[in-house]
Amino acid sequence: MNIILCDKEGYAITNFKKNELNDKVGEETVLIDVGTDNNISKINAKNVLLNIIVDVENLNDKQKEKVIRNIIKIRNSCKRKNIKFGIELNDKIVIANFSNELTESYKNNEIFVALNVLLYDNIGEKYNYLYGKLCDYLDDKFYNNNLCEFRDNVCLAKRNNGAVMGCCHYYKNKYLGVFLPSKFVLCKYNKDGKCTIRCLQCKLFTCDELRKKGIKYTVNNVVLIKVFFNLLQKLIIRISIFTPQEQVVKRLLMTR
Ligand code: SF4
Ligand code: SF4
Repeated sequence: MNIILCDKEGYAITNFKKNELNDKVGEETVLIDVGTDNNISKINAKNVLLNIIVDVENLNDKQKEKVIRNIIKIRNSCKRKNIKFGIELNDKIVIANFSNELTESYKNNEIFVALNVLLYDNIGEKYNYLYGKLCDYLDDKFYNNNLCEFRDNVCLAKRNNGAVMGCCHYYKNKYLGVFLPSKFVLCKYNKDGKCTIRCLQCKLFTCDELRKKGIKYTVNNVVLIKVFFNLLQKLIIRISIFTPQEQVVKRLLMTR
């Protein structure tokens, strides 16, 4: 696997060792090694190609955040200086090389997603892509690892406290709900036990039982939310429960 298509059409990343990569890069291109600690003040070339030298699949969240912030700095610096980002190879624009071997899980890796985010010039497309990838990321964490420990369709929290309803129900009356148990209703987006929309805040939700196990997702600990959204946008995500993607993205665009 040497050339990997990006999610954005026409772009790719490569997976060559640095010595293999040197043969493919012309004299006008500068290879920038990107790690967790970079000094990028002296870029001066016609083209740059990022060479991600860290093992992206084995970094912790802090390290991933640093790599992404470095990539953004380099990208912005290139834009300012009118330096072309990437090189042409096999009819694609290659924007980066990952010099460590990748497995299939690269598709949901935050660094791969961040590189794709930077390719979108249309801000609406960019936010829709990012929002979708964040939902995929959280679905992957919750479902593939069965964090809620579902057994016979009953989750960990319901088993432990005997409750018959879980995450997708809420009190119709915000203030008196606890005193009016019959007003505890199923979310209108839940059909046949499945959510029919993509609501990021619902996907971030972790109940007390999960928190006791040390599992907690918030707008302040998911790397891609931390890096790409401002304070107001994080607040928008937090308050947008039971809300479809289209509406949340609209609110995010208004507060960027
Ligand atoms: S977050 Fe808690 S209440 Fe919701 S499904 Fe998971 S274990 Fe159940
Ligand atoms: S929007 Fe949220 S509460 Fe409603 S069904 Fe989907 S996950 Fe459940």
